[in-house]
Amino acid sequence: MTQTQTSPDRGRAALGPALELIHTGAAPTRSALTGALGVTRTTVGAITAELEALRLITVDARPVGAGRGRPSHRLEIDPQGPVVLAAQLHTDGFTLALAGLGGRLGQPLDLPLARLPRDTDPRVVLRTIADEAMRLLAASPRRCVGAGLAAPTPVTEPERLAVISACLGWPTGTPIGELWEEALRDAGLLLPPGVAPAVANDANLAALAEHRHGAGRGARNLLYVTAGHEGVGGALVVDGRLHTGSTGLALEIGQLTVDPDGLQCRCGRRGCLDVEAGPPALLTAYGLPANAPLAEVDAILAAARAGDRAARAAVDHVAVRLGHGIAAVVDILNPDRVVLGPFHSALLAGAPELLPETVAGRAHWGRFGCVPLRAAELAAPELAGAAELAWAPVLADPQLAATG
Ligand SMILES: [Zn+2]
Repeated sequence: MTQTQTSPDRGRAALGPALELIHTGAAPTRSALTGALGVTRTTVGAITAELEALRLITVDARPVGAGRGRPSHRLEIDPQGPVVLAAQLHTDGFTLALAGLGGRLGQPLDLPLARLPRDTDPRVVLRTIADEAMRLLAASPRRCVGAGLAAPTPVTEPERLAVISACLGWPTGTPIGELWEEALRDAGLLLPPGVAPAVANDANLAALAEHRHGAGRGARNLLYVTAGHEGVGGALVVDGRLHTGSTGLALEIGQLTVDPDGLQCRCGRRGCLDVEAGPPALLTAYGLPANAPLAEVDAILAAARAGDRAARAAVDHVAVRLGHGIAAVVDILNPDRVVLGPFHSALLAGAPELLPETVAGRAHWGRFGCVPLRAAELAAPELAGAAELAWAPVLADPQLAATG
């Protein structure tokens, strides 16, 4: 049966897209929102009134744009509105923060897992995080409408199993999604009906956050490259959505061969991007053992900036390997922007011409496929991404934020 969509129906269907446009800063005024949604001003008036009634946004009637163009109401995130819980699990601890809409991350709380032995049951680790999260939530007057966890492991979809959790000392295939839900439920977290705590890979979430609030804003096909706990990770955001493949395991770029005679990789082969373009590769290139303290990495980068020849050579060596890896991915995906995580951003700063030139020189289409390389902008992209994950249900259906 075909039904004609009435104006209220259109308004309800546009509620989520409208909130996402305000959340990402793409629609700071009512007229910008009208243009972006392609609906009438009356409909947009009803949409913004409803989002305001849900305590998600505020509508400021004081005109902006006093210069050229028609004045319009300003749309902002309600500073007293609901929050979500964002959590990031590291190899040696975890970070928590409450996050409002608009990419506003509260003060992150860093907690070590030092008291827990490395082979601790994942259930105990996640319950420890959940208990700390409840303490954080109890100290806030704002209501919690979602929970997201960034994990240093690929996470399968839809089963949500942690695939490589060796860095956490967890068994392969740990049902991290189920255990995270269980931990928060047992700790007493109440979310709106139909909203479940979510978990995803940290690099994927960092890419999503950079796309919405950082250096990836406005990119149509954003490739994100970062050095994680266990090598080099990649992520792709297409038209604002993460591309995670059929089972959540796409963009495993760490296993690209960038030097067949290169360093030994855990996978048994040599010269994978994982071992050639991460922080240990810089240590090795500088003549230090790969397991030297990570503080040495910063020292080498600083020495390179100061003009030290050996340090510069080490930076250049790793930048070229990274460039070869990025070029291979660029050939396949044809992105319009590449955003680099912190370590690779430092390499770009240390080799601002060599790295882009290596990508352009190595990529099949050379300068025709010219892709801007940008440094990531967010201070805590993985945690910010966990917040994005947690906001996903409300962004899809803002009425979930209704109280009671
Ligand atoms: Zn490998």
